[in-house]
Amino acid sequence: MSTTELEALAVQLGEKRFRGRQIAEWLYTRFVRSIDEMSNLPAPFRAKLNEVAVATSLTIFHKDAAEDGTIKYLAQLHDGEEIEAVYLPYENRVSICISSQVGCAAGCTFCATAQGGLARDLTAGEIFEQYLLLANENPGRRISHIVYMGMGEPLLNYEAVVGSARLLMQEAGLSARHITISTVGVVPGILRLAEEHEPITLAVSLHAPDDVLREQLIPTAKKWKLEQILDACKVYHQKTKRNLTFEYLLIGGVNDSLLQARDLAKVLGDIPGNVNLIPFNYVDTAQGFKRPKPDRIQDFRTTLEVGGRITTQRMERGHGISAACGQLKRTAGTIRVRNISPKLNVELTPVG
Ligand code: SAH
Repeated sequence: MSTTELEALAVQLGEKRFRGRQIAEWLYTRFVRSIDEMSNLPAPFRAKLNEVAVATSLTIFHKDAAEDGTIKYLAQLHDGEEIEAVYLPYENRVSICISSQVGCAAGCTFCATAQGGLARDLTAGEIFEQYLLLANENPGRRISHIVYMGMGEPLLNYEAVVGSARLLMQEAGLSARHITISTVGVVPGILRLAEEHEPITLAVSLHAPDDVLREQLIPTAKKWKLEQILDACKVYHQKTKRNLTFEYLLIGGVNDSLLQARDLAKVLGDIPGNVNLIPFNYVDTAQGFKRPKPDRIQDFRTTLEVGGRITTQRMERGHGISAACGQLKRTAGTIRVRNISPKLNVELTPVG
């Protein structure tokens, strides 16, 4: 709930409006996890609140810390479903990676989350609360950056994701440009976000320079072609003035040839934005995917840069704690397998 909604709740329960602001202060500034800790509220009001509301809906089910400070959380929702959220401290900022759905329906062949299918959407509150939970767990440093790169496809849960981003901006004081929504390329969602003029950073998972290979890696690519996605990216840039981030997962012998690097630079044309290379994080796949050798990653990067595209490589964090999307849930959680797409077993023809 926003502060305004909390004020309305207080009034509805027969209290003064400012009580709502006090609740917001406990939840969003002090990050308390229960109504009973809100010690400046009168006891009868706390009792009333406890009858009609809950302060939290997530509990920590499992947690893994890596030597570099990365902490991966597996959180349980009120209905027993589980989601992942990751705390990523850097020297000059703290970032967190949050989930938008329980599981995912996109079916990407390289992704651990896809292997369990989609269970349900998260609510705006459940998405926002991942921030509150990680802030409560890690006092001392302010969380300044959020990436929607955990479980799920954010733009297939549009309302809740945008609702949670608004809460992050309004209640947590995060800047829109420090919020990154990563999408597999849901064209209507990109266009809608562009229309709503939220200057949020958009990251688009490309992973292939052509539709033939992309469809083998990402089943939803059959619905939205590269050309349509890149057109939508242009609109996004025009409307929001934000540069885009193009994510490119590198899988050895599949999409890492230098010819593909050249094609990628060509396909991107003059759309403003960087390419972020993500070496494949090991997931046991039917195709036996592996990450390319470091030399190849470097050559791929150089080729893209020669093609005029500023390129970064995703900083490796949380090695040894199953930090790739969906991995912790598969090792520590009770993943339930459902809606498995038969497309997960497509044969891939190595290219290049
Ligand atoms: N559904 C959104 C966000 C989820 S994952 C999207 O597709 O963008 C965030 C990023 O991690 C995506 O680029 C995704 O393709 C990538 N990813 C998934 N599995 C991976 C793996 N095994 N290794 C490296 N990156 C992976």
